[in-house]
Amino acid sequence: MTTDWIAEAAALRPQTGLFIGGEFREALDGGTFESVSPRSGDSLAQISSATESDVDAAVRGASSAFESGVWSRADRRERQRVLLALSELMLENLDELALLESIDSGHPIGDALRVDVPNAARTIRWYAEALDKVYDEVAPTPENALAIVRREPLGVVGAVVPWNYPLIISAWKIGPALAAGNSVVLKPAELTSLSALKFAELAREAGIPPGVFSVVPGVGAVAGQALGRHPLVDKITFTGSPQVGKSFLRYAGDSNAKQVSLELGGKSAQVVLADVEDIDACASAVAWGIFYNAGQTCHGGSRLVVDESIHDELLAAVLAVGASLRLGDPLLESTQIGTIASQVQLDRVLGYVDTAREEGAIVHGGNRIHPDGLEGGFYVEPTVFDGVDNASRIGQEEIFGPALAVTTVRGTDEAVAVANASDYGLAASVWTSNVTTAHRVARDLRAGTVWVNTYDVSDVITPFGGVKQSGSGRDRSLHALDSYSYLKTTWIDLGS
Ligand code: NAP
Ligand code: MG
Repeated sequence: MTTDWIAEAAALRPQTGLFIGGEFREALDGGTFESVSPRSGDSLAQISSATESDVDAAVRGASSAFESGVWSRADRRERQRVLLALSELMLENLDELALLESIDSGHPIGDALRVDVPNAARTIRWYAEALDKVYDEVAPTPENALAIVRREPLGVVGAVVPWNYPLIISAWKIGPALAAGNSVVLKPAELTSLSALKFAELAREAGIPPGVFSVVPGVGAVAGQALGRHPLVDKITFTGSPQVGKSFLRYAGDSNAKQVSLELGGKSAQVVLADVEDIDACASAVAWGIFYNAGQTCHGGSRLVVDESIHDELLAAVLAVGASLRLGDPLLESTQIGTIASQVQLDRVLGYVDTAREEGAIVHGGNRIHPDGLEGGFYVEPTVFDGVDNASRIGQEEIFGPALAVTTVRGTDEAVAVANASDYGLAASVWTSNVTTAHRVARDLRAGTVWVNTYDVSDVITPFGGVKQSGSGRDRSLHALDSYSYLKTTWIDLGS
């Protein structure tokens, strides 16, 4: 039997309060903000909007919990047990979590069920499992001393996340931060707070002690800034735009020099060389690499850098894949591409279509779609800009929509130079049938992830993050676990 997700969504009663000290409550001033359904443009819920005082309460609670040792000094097997229980609860609540993610962000329900929730749950489980498998160090001291290098939790971690993958990106931060013994205060994006609040409910049920994990939905410039400037926050882990990421560096400089880890998106190049083996497989990867989640992916492959000898054939194949994608109602399991997350983002994407025309690119697609019964929703068809000058705005600026900029090059050296001619460096790919070329280009591309003959395959086992203005932090892998602790050296004199 297939589930009627539209009926299920209508019956949902999402949690809308702040989650502080293990309880849901209203903001101190009673303020709220509206959550709008990107599927229809209608109002979904009024969500409590954290003030600076609410954030202060959450941070103080997090700090007291940390100092008490209830979590930070708990046996790591106890932390492991609770985090494993949380991961299990996420899967037991798969339908509700997926539905909340879908109605709030516009992700197709099928993706939410098969990708967002399982990936987030796997991330939490992976860090829980790591807890009794990672050893600290003994340094090679002289014989009369013993030096132990231990990882200690940092204290209070503020996680500020965007709206494109609310659960997955939150789990990338919360999983390792909690596993390492920190307290965490999460500020979800205004557009997508609902799954974070359900997650908080599950964290409480799993046994995360009060204060150790809090969620403060609210406005970035208020709640996000209050976290960034709080003297009791030891680290900010942020994913979002470069502008706001740079603000967090300023907040840290103006307050307590807290650590700041940034993941800031990109303009990632999919490089296709003349000797690509399978053009159809390549076209499919290129199209999904940009159109998945309607292009709202930090590492979306938003530039296609293609050798002139295969440009026409590849472009035709990419357009054919784009035209085949089922765009529409996120609550239908048959839908492959859902909505843009908000009216603001929709206007931004359509604005870039105008920019592309002004800059002389050939525009394929580029139109807003109004599905029957969902006319007010935020839908944009797969869009390809051909003949793009890499130095133009369309070649340089992150659009964050289903829009691919195509630049034609001659030969491998020019392809690499064009791919690297960006202020960003989050991800890239290269398509070639020559193994030496593959290794050389992978070496020469300046990006945190390089895919060879594929795109957007990844897992919690590998680090994820960028260089240049894509930021410097790393989510996922044991490197991320390390980044939520500090190294303490204990030097013991053993006598002569
Ligand atoms: P954003 O403004 O950087 O938002 C990211 C997070 O920071 C949200 O939780 C946001 O809260 C918060 N925030 C906003 N202004 C803040 C401030 N002054 N101080 C502290 N926190 C603040 O990103 P966006 O507005 O969602 O998207 C804008 C552009 O950023 C997109 O078009 C895209 O190019 C890029 N982006 C990148 C990623 C990525 O994964 N790297 C993700 C999303 C967007 P509010 O929700 O309340 O604003
Ligand atoms: Mg929303």
